[in-house]
Amino acid sequence: MTTKLPIARSESVFEDYKSALNDSQAAVEANRCLYCYDAPCIKACPTEINIPEFIRKIATNNVRGSAKTIFDSNILGMSCARVCPVEVLCVGDCVYNAMGVPPIQIGKLQRYATDIAYAKKWQYYEAGKATGKSVGLIGAGPASLAAAHELRRYGHACTVYEKRDVVGGLNTTGVAPYKMKADRAVDEVEWILSIGGIDVKTGVSIPDDVSWDELAKKHNALFLGFGLGPDSELRVPGQDFGGVYGAVDYIEKMKLGLVSVADVKHAVVVGGGNTAIDAVRELRGLGIESVTMIYRGVEIGMSGYQHEWNAAKEEGVRALWRTLPTAFDGRDGRVSGVRCISLDDQKQPINGTEHALPAQLVLLAIGQAKLDALVKAMPDVKTDKGRIAVDANGFTGRKGVFAGGDAANGGKEVVNAAAEGKRAARAIHEYLVGGGSQ
Ligand SMILES: Cc1cc2nc3c(=O)[nH]c(=O)nc-3n(C[C@H](O)[C@H](O)[C@H](O)COP(=O)(O)OP(=O)(O)OC[C@H]3O[C@@H](n4cnc5c(N)ncnc54)[C@H](O)[C@@H]3O)c2cc1C
Ligand code: SF4
Repeated sequence: MTTKLPIARSESVFEDYKSALNDSQAAVEANRCLYCYDAPCIKACPTEINIPEFIRKIATNNVRGSAKTIFDSNILGMSCARVCPVEVLCVGDCVYNAMGVPPIQIGKLQRYATDIAYAKKWQYYEAGKATGKSVGLIGAGPASLAAAHELRRYGHACTVYEKRDVVGGLNTTGVAPYKMKADRAVDEVEWILSIGGIDVKTGVSIPDDVSWDELAKKHNALFLGFGLGPDSELRVPGQDFGGVYGAVDYIEKMKLGLVSVADVKHAVVVGGGNTAIDAVRELRGLGIESVTMIYRGVEIGMSGYQHEWNAAKEEGVRALWRTLPTAFDGRDGRVSGVRCISLDDQKQPINGTEHALPAQLVLLAIGQAKLDALVKAMPDVKTDKGRIAVDANGFTGRKGVFAGGDAANGGKEVVNAAAEGKRAARAIHEYLVGGGSQ
């Protein structure tokens, strides 16, 4: 498997928002860690990386061992070091916060160790003795990759079916480029695949190209890691004008190719979650002068992370709170403005508050569709509000079929997908070798 990304990509203009540590900065930061007994930072990490242990290894100049501690828990430790919302996970729970002292920069230390491991091409893992069993994994995102790597360590053959031509899922196509660019995500996939024995078939959409029945005949177990679907639509007049996009769709275009914002003076992003905040920051970073987020809620309690929104504000983004878009205006088939109405504290429109904003680009960040329709042909696979229903080990209720990541959790973070993929792999292994009933 090789994924060749176009060399010219709009995302290339972005610099890292969080800078990398050099050797001496890493040593100083690592030596600040208190190596807490019962460390709260470990509990805050969905993959339960032994954080004090990997930090201590940096402090004692054992970077190779440090990276291994990270990868032993989370094979996507390199990307998670860049993309994890550490402010609300490990760093947010570091004991230093309670002392009024800056917390340990755990993400940056993790990036330090894992980047060196990649640069030095250190290899830590090999495939287990072949078991003769085969697992099919749907989607080549973080959940399936974490599951496939773990399954290879147990010796099971793996085939990953990916509908796109690129691998890595949203880590490649969705994550903000000031956190990680697509080529780095692809580097990670290749590093994970270097364990050998994971056959990735790109350009294959399940069940259209290979039916569930065929998959069941080919494989002894299946893992559903197909994530979420396309951006939700707003269904207001003018949504079909050129220049109105789903945010995740537009971000993918910007990360994998070129988008032109030369004629865009004013842009509007609809939504108040993390995708909306990423989108406004990305549009500012692409050079658009005026970027406005329109959200039906208010700043306190918005669904996006406050620390990300604070960064957006510093970058010059403005927001209209308690505001609902009612229609898009257009000229010559292209969007030229957004008509809005203000909402009261019950989120009801207030008569007489209609107003309009100029906009040559509008991104809709109001959620992604669920892909439950994909599994309609498997009646024992239950869904709950569009998510694949699973038990704590990722078992769906249908013999040999497991799921994890966004498809099952409804849309969380890369680190959750990594944790769920690995957990499901263990359950699949139990099922394959133990002849379990699952
Ligand atoms: C815009 C955006 C920014 C984000 N930023 C961050 C961030 O900064 N930090 C963070 O931790 N998380 C972030 N996330 C969330 C994170 O990317 C996801 O939680 C994570 O990627 C989920 O992994 P997954 O493997 O479950 O699904 P995905 O990454 O979505 O991978 C699923 C894969 O399945 C493939 N697929 C879908 N249908 C089929 C089919 N029928 N047949 C075959 N293949 C199929 C898809 O093409 C895709 O490659 C972001 C999400 C979005 C939308
Ligand atoms: S909570 Fe902070 S100080 Fe304690 S082990 Fe974790 S990173 Fe180190």
